[in-house]
Amino acid sequence: MRKLCPAQLPCSAGCKYCFSTWSNYQKSAFNEDIELGSKSILIYPCCDGDYFMQSGMNETIKRYSEKFKYIYVSISSKIEPSKESLKSLFSLNEWLLSTGCGMVKYASSISTVSMINEIEPNTMSYEKRYEIASKFKENGITVSLTLKPVMPFISGEEYCSIVEKYSELTKYVVIGGLYVNKDTDFYRSYIMSQYDTIKRRVSWLPNKPLWDYLEPREQMEQIKEYCFSRSISLFESDNLLFEYLVKGGIGK
Ligand code: SF4
Repeated sequence: MRKLCPAQLPCSAGCKYCFSTWSNYQKSAFNEDIELGSKSILIYPCCDGDYFMQSGMNETIKRYSEKFKYIYVSISSKIEPSKESLKSLFSLNEWLLSTGCGMVKYASSISTVSMINEIEPNTMSYEKRYEIASKFKENGITVSLTLKPVMPFISGEEYCSIVEKYSELTKYVVIGGLYVNKDTDFYRSYIMSQYDTIKRRVSWLPNKPLWDYLEPREQMEQIKEYCFSRSISLFESDNLLFEYLVKGGIGK
């Protein structure tokens, strides 16, 4: 089963497309109960905020070991982690691996290189994201690359160049389209008159709401072909990537 963990502070990265502040996300994300009876839990401690600003998260995560045999922790943030946060995540991963009850995975999340300053104003630079992902890898943490959301106004070539750079760190790429809120400046400025949206059910949220969604087909096809030609495994969700890793014996 999956569990989204609420952040103590809102994320300060300021990504213009981020759904963490939408009221329809906030209403539905954290009202789930933990389903007992399941052997493992996949925890997302920073889906709506900054993991690295949260205190006591390791202890919260460790407490799940009283109820679940396996704990898988998926970390992804576009904010630069402090040295202390890195240390604490490395030690959490060591603890999970040494007790044979799970693992931490770090996803470097990238939706653009050329427009980072414009649409992700307070985030790590592209170079810094790579440097941080390298540190996770050096410390024995499985790294993946998340190209999600793929933006309709960013070229397929740009995305393929990101996959190429990250191929030194990982063979796992997660891709997906863009959920939009039609009441935002981001929608009015970047999407409205140029791209069509469809309605899509958000299967990973507890009450599975219907949101407006845009899938940039051309870019996604280009990324798929590129990954296929280089034997890089592609996944539609982080959840599916975890299933693949666990079936392969990682984190057990
Ligand atoms: S880093 Fe993630 S949570 Fe923070 S604003 Fe950007 S997309 Fe949202």
